Amino acid sequence: MIIDDVYIKTLLKNGAEASAEARRAALSRAEGGAPLTLTDAAALLHMTDAEDEARLFALAGKIKNAVYGNRVVLFAPLYVSDYCVNNCAYCGYKKSNGFRRRKLTFDEIRQEVELLESLGHKRLALEFGEDYENCPMEYILGAIGAVYDTKNGGGEIRRVNVNIAATTVENYAKLKEKGIGTYILFQETYHKATYERLHRGGPKSDYGYHLTAFDRAMQGGVDDVGAGVLFGLYDYKYEVMALLLHNAHLERTYGAGFHTISVPRLRQARGNDLRAFPHLVGDSDFKRIIALLRIAVPYTGIILSTRESAALRNEAIHYGVSQISAGSATGVGAYRVEAAGEDANQFEIADRRAVHTVVADLMNSGFIPSYCTACYRKGRTGDRFFALARSGEIKNVCAPNAIMTLAEYVTDYGDDALKSAGLDCVKRNIAAIEDESMRTALEAQTEKILAGKRDLYF
Ligand code: SAM
Repeated sequence: MIIDDVYIKTLLKNGAEASAEARRAALSRAEGGAPLTLTDAAALLHMTDAEDEARLFALAGKIKNAVYGNRVVLFAPLYVSDYCVNNCAYCGYKKSNGFRRRKLTFDEIRQEVELLESLGHKRLALEFGEDYENCPMEYILGAIGAVYDTKNGGGEIRRVNVNIAATTVENYAKLKEKGIGTYILFQETYHKATYERLHRGGPKSDYGYHLTAFDRAMQGGVDDVGAGVLFGLYDYKYEVMALLLHNAHLERTYGAGFHTISVPRLRQARGNDLRAFPHLVGDSDFKRIIALLRIAVPYTGIILSTRESAALRNEAIHYGVSQISAGSATGVGAYRVEAAGEDANQFEIADRRAVHTVVADLMNSGFIPSYCTACYRKGRTGDRFFALARSGEIKNVCAPNAIMTLAEYVTDYGDDALKSAGLDCVKRNIAAIEDESMRTALEAQTEKILAGKRDLYF
């Protein structure tokens, strides 16, 4: 059993009843480097003391820094088709919402991708609604092919992550064959009764089929999977415990847990009324969720989208979040045509900063904006990725790769000010590389980039 409802409720009950001393002891164990147990996670989710909370964030920040350094990976979503046969209560694309639906032709995909490339993007997350007639597997595979086909000027998309509905082992094998990066699927809620109440029709209404999607993905050879919960549908404490159980199941069975966890919060969308959702998560609980996940699964990337404000994203990268989207549009064709149709967006977005502004803000806060796509192209996926991450070895290549992608980005897409700030940032971060032979190698590679070479990585 992947999700044991009774077990989660028992853990949460014990966590709620844990004494202040027991909670502090759990914090101390985590500070001492012990992996966070489910019992300790449940206790920490219930903390109320401000000093304990400060320790939690400090520890999350320390882990974030030790595993990810000062790198933040950037990507953009690309909405390909909004045809959908499901009726998910919260979603703007639900079947019962009447609006003119569309999917991009392969030529339109190329045009959207060229636009995203002209902004400097190297990684995309492709988003599709579920509709086997209007959006069959052949179309999805063709769409991925169209993205990888597009080689425009200096830029090209180097990693395509895909968010499609739960499907069969055979279809996952086809996605793998097509060269996808991460297969992303949000559980939305792990609480079965809530899931069944909110998913009121279509194939997605089958909780068990949705929950076992990553098992089939792994069996089909897709070993980088990206999970998520739509926070606001049910009690966040239950969802966090369930995420950890799901991750433990994958680790135990396939040797690799979630590659990433996304933490979307429910937003206003066409046809949903947020007043009907009693479990909306406020900012302070949301920040605690991110910090706790960082401590519980140090090697799993945490993704925060433009559903959240610039201020919250700027804060969360200090103690948990390792990947953010930038300059996003959440409608089919919306990059090319500013207003792709008044009802085209799936939900409201809060951070509308342009990509170059996000890059500049990250550098101003001491981060390296990274467009790195090296791992999966070097075969560092699934259990191989986790083995290298746990041993700390991966760190030796992550910072150099991030620095090279920044040198590329500011040279190709920055104006004079961004280029100068970016190259300063590159220099500073090269100087901070401790290993001398790596530093020398990186200096040589960066020189090559400045002389016009592209797509260099370790
Ligand atoms: N058809 C795929 C599926 O159902 O999983 C694609 C999903 S959709 C493009 C990506 C995610 O957006 C969903 O999994 C859901 O978590 C999220 N989403 C849907 N409605 C939302 C809303 N109103 N506010 C925030 N996120 C929402």
